[in-house]
Amino acid sequence: MNKSEILAWLLEEDPGRLERLWSLADNTRRTHVGDAVHIRGLIEFSNHCRSRCHYCGMRSERKALSRYRMTREEILVSARGAVARGYGTVVMQSGEDPGLDVEWLADVIETIRRETPLAVTLSCGERSEYELARWHKAGADRYYLRFETSDRILWKEIHPSGRKNAPHRLDILPGIRDLGYETGSGILVGIPGQTWSSLVEDLQSFRRLDLDMIGCGPFVPHEDTPLGRKYLKPGRAGSKGEQTPNTDLMTYKVMALTRLLCPDVNIPTTTALATINRETGHLLGLRRGANVLMVNLTPIQYRSLYEIYPAKEGIRESAEEQLDRVSVLLAELGRTAGEGPGASPNYESRRRAMTSQIAR
Ligand code: SF4
Repeated sequence: MNKSEILAWLLEEDPGRLERLWSLADNTRRTHVGDAVHIRGLIEFSNHCRSRCHYCGMRSERKALSRYRMTREEILVSARGAVARGYGTVVMQSGEDPGLDVEWLADVIETIRRETPLAVTLSCGERSEYELARWHKAGADRYYLRFETSDRILWKEIHPSGRKNAPHRLDILPGIRDLGYETGSGILVGIPGQTWSSLVEDLQSFRRLDLDMIGCGPFVPHEDTPLGRKYLKPGRAGSKGEQTPNTDLMTYKVMALTRLLCPDVNIPTTTALATINRETGHLLGLRRGANVLMVNLTPIQYRSLYEIYPAKEGIRESAEEQLDRVSVLLAELGRTAGEGPGASPNYESRRRAMTSQIAR
């Protein structure tokens, strides 16, 4: 698909034509990654962050937010909960926590890998090559780092890192993949300043980066952040002209096009999507290209503090309520829960190619 075809789909508003896009994405999903929906158990283990992303409620300058870091034992209890519910993967997510001890996390990963059959996905922001290599050696299978936007000027504006010559995440991702991680990234749909052409470029970047997992969620404004304040200002004009909208419809289009451009990847239906469409966000996401669903295993007392954006979906749900919701959703979709770690075919074929290269 070339640039103008991608743009035409992004701008398409005719419901009949869009049905064609949904059906193409759903058929491609079925052919390439099958009908299983892989359930990932999410553990948001620390909300400390040294970064100041303009859209995020966990930015370091937000002093009003109480900070927490889960203990080793709390993380292990959550991981055992994932095993008890039949999930194949835990996603350990944190802010860019400056107090995260490399050996402490390596020990937690080693323990999970030794004591459970779980795959471990890490999402801890921009970390040093040493840390990433150490955690991979400890047994972490996957690393997820969203580049949010391929527009380098916009990225600098909304992600003031404070580190001199900090690289764009687009330039960090190949190094993560080369360490052997199954590698994930994604974008924010409709972030203020995102243009149609940069959104097309985002989608084309997914292919170029040879990603294994791609997560796309809508921008959800947080009133206590610079970008949220600007967005929520009374009298602000709606999305028009060059600005892309942060709607659920635009997010489905991006997910469907992602599936068509990168058929062998794993695509989650994101919590942000279900936050702006609580009724059918996950259902439609899974019908329009996605094959992965996240459930929150973070202890309830911490969930509201992992506040990238407000009023996140599912923050008060108990384990039983989550299980019930997932069963109802899968029944409605006529699909089953995936078994085992659920690596993406894209990663599996890269791994096979690497193994045969080494054997030669
Ligand atoms: S988006 Fe991530 S890196 Fe940026 S402030 Fe929030 S938690 Fe930190």
